[in-house]
Amino acid sequence: MEARVLRLNVAGQPIEWLHWKDCVCLYARGLVAWTLGGVVKKVHGGHSRMTGLQTVLDVPAIVACDGERMSRMRLDPPLTNAALFYRDNCQCLYCGNYFTFAELSRDHVHPSSRGGVDKWENVVAACKRCNQRKGDALLSEINMELLALPYRPNPYEYLALINSRRIRGDQFEYLQPQFSRYNLTLDDLINLNENFDNRVRGNAPIMI
Ligand SMILES: [Zn+2]
Repeated sequence: MEARVLRLNVAGQPIEWLHWKDCVCLYARGLVAWTLGGVVKKVHGGHSRMTGLQTVLDVPAIVACDGERMSRMRLDPPLTNAALFYRDNCQCLYCGNYFTFAELSRDHVHPSSRGGVDKWENVVAACKRCNQRKGDALLSEINMELLALPYRPNPYEYLALINSRRIRGDQFEYLQPQFSRYNLTLDDLINLNENFDNRVRGNAPIMI
């Protein structure tokens, strides 16, 4: 799977993942301020009229971009089921078993029918059986408890989670020191994906 380029603003805050072609456009527009990490791809361009030599661009793993306005880091990452299931390691936070994305559902810890809000701090991955069993009850009303407290991933964690299937070591090293959960390692992400791939082999890749 082709690696993506981690785009930062000029202050070094992570903004988004780019396809290498978009990164080439940033170079062409003179917006790349500085770079980090290894080379994602070598891109061959046209031949110089002056020298006859072909231009070559080493697309770096991490680029920081300048512009008229500084891009702002997204503090409120969008809550999608795929990102949520990655956050919870594809584990049902009630029974503790691991499932495929298709077998999981978004459970509102404080049920929506009773005023629970659809936000990161109130949702967990749950298997359909546990979700059904819980129904519209509060945890205090039934004999169920959470294995971990739901949390909002910060922008560094969020970008690592949504690209965990093809993140490179140098990109992970850049993001990881800012994780709010320091225990998440690159090995965890790789194991998560290997387990996940084994379970869904033959299915179409999950797009986030
Ligand atoms: Zn379950």
